[in-house]
Amino acid sequence: MPLVTTTEMFKKAYDGGYAVGAFNVNNMEIVQGITEACQEQHAPVVLQVSKGARAYANHTYLVKMVEAAVIECPDIPIALHLDHGPDFETCKACIDGGFSSVMIDCSSRPFDENVEETKKVVEYAHAHGVVVEAELGTLAGVEDDVKVSAADSSYTHPEEVEEFVTRTGCDSLAIAIGTSHGAYKFTPEQCTRNADGVLVPPPLRFDVLEEVSKRLPGFPIVLHGSSSVPREFVDKINKFGGKMPDAIGIPEEELRHAAQLSVCKINIDSDIRLAITASIREHFAEHPDHFDPRQYLKPARQAVKDMVTHKLINVLGCNGKA
Ligand SMILES: [Zn+2]
Repeated sequence: MPLVTTTEMFKKAYDGGYAVGAFNVNNMEIVQGITEACQEQHAPVVLQVSKGARAYANHTYLVKMVEAAVIECPDIPIALHLDHGPDFETCKACIDGGFSSVMIDCSSRPFDENVEETKKVVEYAHAHGVVVEAELGTLAGVEDDVKVSAADSSYTHPEEVEEFVTRTGCDSLAIAIGTSHGAYKFTPEQCTRNADGVLVPPPLRFDVLEEVSKRLPGFPIVLHGSSSVPREFVDKINKFGGKMPDAIGIPEEELRHAAQLSVCKINIDSDIRLAITASIREHFAEHPDHFDPRQYLKPARQAVKDMVTHKLINVLGCNGKA
């Protein structure tokens, strides 16, 4: 099937009590690792491209790699989405340039400015058959060149969501309930420790999610910054010469719970980076003589595929839903 929008996949996810994975892509191995897992598991998928990815790999290369994945994975719906579009111009370039979905992120601006810019993107996108994700509330953390301190982050105000969605006409809404961008989502001071001394992050604000869902029945909600930063990757990176102390993510059980509620799209980026880095560090430690990129990128691609397969089955619940 050709590239699709997220409309149909979100409707099925909402009704079916699962979420679709939205994975960030930056190069060929990442595209292949994700889509091979989804094809095998019969899972719908959102491949998303950030401003940083477009700067790194070039818009045309990314679009053509995703188009190749669409050809190679004929049985599953694939959407190509702009992650964190900063303004109308970037969104327009992606709408004109082959994307089926865009995000306009004016969440750090005043409410009325967020409404105006989002509305402008929605009008242009809908006229071209493209859907729009918007955001209310501000996540903490670091994503590409967007950096928000914990002090400047804020949970979504549920009393604003109906007016925002009505005035903008957006198709899905990213909200802030305590997830965070990057591999260092919380400081040790924000966490507690369990009986084994392992850091436990503060719980997600499911009360905010429930209040939002009550006000927007049937409307797809999106969670950003939802990598779980698996211990096995961090330990392997540190074992083989890396230095990532205190890296911490969102527990998978919490994401699984959110997927069963109104959350239809869960964004995962850092876990891809960690899977690749752990694999390559281990490979070089064990094969110091290797210098052919295929020797270390092949297992790195497999590590992405294995990680994504785990998410589809155990976190998102979207396996078998294509
Ligand atoms: Zn994000």
